[in-house]
Amino acid sequence: MSVKSRIVRWILNIAVIIAFWIRGQFKSDWFQWQKTDSKANTWRALDMVSGRSGFYFSRQAFSFDRPGYVEEYARQLKRIAGFGHAEGEAQSMPYQGTFWNRLGFGSRVNGQQSGYFGTFNDRSNYRYSFDGCHVPYWFLSLLFACGGLPLLLRLRAQRRRSRRLRANQCLSCGYDLRATSGRCPECGQLINSSIAHA
Ligand SMILES: [Zn+2]
Repeated sequence: MSVKSRIVRWILNIAVIIAFWIRGQFKSDWFQWQKTDSKANTWRALDMVSGRSGFYFSRQAFSFDRPGYVEEYARQLKRIAGFGHAEGEAQSMPYQGTFWNRLGFGSRVNGQQSGYFGTFNDRSNYRYSFDGCHVPYWFLSLLFACGGLPLLLRLRAQRRRSRRLRANQCLSCGYDLRATSGRCPECGQLINSSIAHA
């Protein structure tokens, strides 16, 4: 892949983050994956939600004691089996209180918890874990922006090299070599046609 097309892809990646950032002020996008395993009586889900200030990721794993309850639980959540997308209201950052939360970072790892599902007389206990984290758009944009800087430097070096080749200048220092052969009188770089045409 050429440097130029990698730069185009890099800019598109940043544009996608900024698009979610702007859209997140009005709507949230829920990218969800869920799996109900009736045999094992488990329900698992992974979510990515675009909020107002960043992406929220979560992982849920439920394990029911009584057979049959996991299907009913999944049905009541009205979630799409497999991979799905849903649109929702604008979402605020779910973690509040600390300095890092104010910057848009946050996470919660709850470990194993328990609860029950069903009516009082007819219910199943379940164990679950529900962990999440939040990464701010500004950080992702900055990360992507910095990640692409080497590409810009490479593009600049490429352009300088082809410009010097065209103008018959030293590839190393840019000294005018039209009246010289052998080594560059300025920096000592070997003038080699095989380098020049590489
Ligand atoms: Zn030179």
